[in-house]
Amino acid sequence: MEKQAKIIDGRILSTKIREKLKKEATKFEKKNKRPIGIAVVLVGEDPASQTYVKNKVKACEECGIKSFVIMRPAETSQDELDQIIRDLNESIEVDGILTQLPLPKHLDENHVLDLIDPKKDVDGFHIQNAGKLFVGQDSLVPCTPAGIVELIKSTGKRMEGKHAVIIGRSNIVGKPIAMLLLAQNCTVTICHSRTKNLARVTKRADILVAAIGRREFVTGGMIKRGAVVIDVGINRHEGKLYGDVNYDQASKIASHITPVPGGVGPMTITMLMSNTIKAAQATLETPQK
Ligand code: NAD
Repeated sequence: MEKQAKIIDGRILSTKIREKLKKEATKFEKKNKRPIGIAVVLVGEDPASQTYVKNKVKACEECGIKSFVIMRPAETSQDELDQIIRDLNESIEVDGILTQLPLPKHLDENHVLDLIDPKKDVDGFHIQNAGKLFVGQDSLVPCTPAGIVELIKSTGKRMEGKHAVIIGRSNIVGKPIAMLLLAQNCTVTICHSRTKNLARVTKRADILVAAIGRREFVTGGMIKRGAVVIDVGINRHEGKLYGDVNYDQASKIASHITPVPGGVGPMTITMLMSNTIKAAQATLETPQK
């Protein structure tokens, strides 16, 4: 009988981590007489963004974190959005701030991300946190890459010295996961849309991370036998969700694989909760003005 890869179940791992996070959040609340708080700013009516925000609010409830959802219409001006962020930066109830991306076209995403107080930047997208990650200093790390490291750790496989190949070089996934895997002493290769002979590179990967945004792009022939395959992709097609990896083919070759849905997605939100608790705890170390 053909061997099947072990499923790396992001839901089960998330539940375990969220139980621990809830204890930490409760401890914080008892000590500080206020709950940990996160503000989620949603501009516009994008249905996928609305679903993501709903899932984040649900995770907050599970972890004992208070969520403030700030919804504004798509026509919101840059000045109005900037003021919202400035107010949240000052709020003593809010430990973490995130703006749900993508923002409507007329708003400057980079400007908004860099306006968020880096200490409250629970998405880890502020240039200061990105810089800290790059030089290996403790920082708020982007949630999806942070979750990927936990998923790989959960396989029990050593990362040190392993060849990790990442397909995708975005600031949200590709680049930060490269830095995190480098910090785990992997040998890291980043591939992208201009990479030549992609399959030849991916076939050498002990750990393969696919963050492309193309349905079932990675086929069985691109995977080394026994590899750990992490599928970051979320591709909607005819009402169904697909990853960037052809699961049926990959699961016959890989040793471990994340499913879509139920792999990277739940861990991303769990890491957001973890970052929010970390940000709140850090405010205790640097007393408020
Ligand atoms: P992006 O569009 O910013 O980046 C995609 C990357 O894929 C680019 O760097 C590009 O160079 C590379 N690419 C495109 N075509 C390629 C090709 N033919 N060969 C090799 N590389 C190619 O996307 P992103 O924000 O990094 O997201 C990637 C995917 O992950 C999307 O499906 C997104 O929805 C998903 N995602 C999931 C989560 C989660 O929580 N599960 C979080 C973030 C992103």
